Amino acid sequence: MRPEGEDARTDPVAARKRMVEVQLRSRGIEDERVLDAFASVPRHRFVEPAMRLSAYGDHALPIGEGQTISQPYMVAVMTQALRPKAEDRILEIGTGSGYQAAVLARLVRTVFTVERVPGLARRAQAIFAGLGIDNVIQRTGDGSLGWSRYAPFDGIVVTAGAPRIPESLREQLADGARLVIPVGTGAHQVLRVLERRGDRTVERTGEACTFVPLIGREAWREGSGS
Ligand code: SAM
Repeated sequence: MRPEGEDARTDPVAARKRMVEVQLRSRGIEDERVLDAFASVPRHRFVEPAMRLSAYGDHALPIGEGQTISQPYMVAVMTQALRPKAEDRILEIGTGSGYQAAVLARLVRTVFTVERVPGLARRAQAIFAGLGIDNVIQRTGDGSLGWSRYAPFDGIVVTAGAPRIPESLREQLADGARLVIPVGTGAHQVLRVLERRGDRTVERTGEACTFVPLIGREAWREGSGS
């Protein structure tokens, strides 16, 4: 097998195809629309030029400001758990590099995304513009409170680890919508998937994961023991 970076440099399309088959399909990602989205979004455009050779590797990468672009498999697990449909309006908390939002933008009508760090929000905005992605609406601020102006959403995905499920996010789910969120302390997070059914929510616990902390009013306090 060729080294991980080689075909990202010479042939990003081949690198993506390999990522989809080896890292996603073989580990249980089976929604063909989701797999197609991962095969088409140029992940190497969301990392620093110096890291492009490892953009399609089976791991997270630093994106500056102490933050990361998540491992492709974890982005895929969360995307599939949302069960995205073409007409959906999805809220993402934690824009980061913009990669998850770009994947969702291929799958749904509109993506709303909130990032706490202004420099990262600006960087992602420039990448969306460069790629001609025009169905992502961005805001800089505390996403633990959701985005009430555009609620309710057909799905909400949180890409940072929360101490508990923020009540604001639960309230901003449309009937039948799902919230996908890592919950727990740094080393002991699990993915939780909630589905709103009328006045109640049903919940399942998914796989173990490791995300940077969600910092905000309904999340960790800055500098707290996340
Ligand atoms: N989805 C991103 C991607 O595709 O690159 C990965 C996100 S990174 C793992 C987590 C992001 O959540 C960081 O950029 C961090 O600044 C952001 N974040 C943390 N707390 C937040 C909050 N309360 N509201 C919005 N963003 C937050």
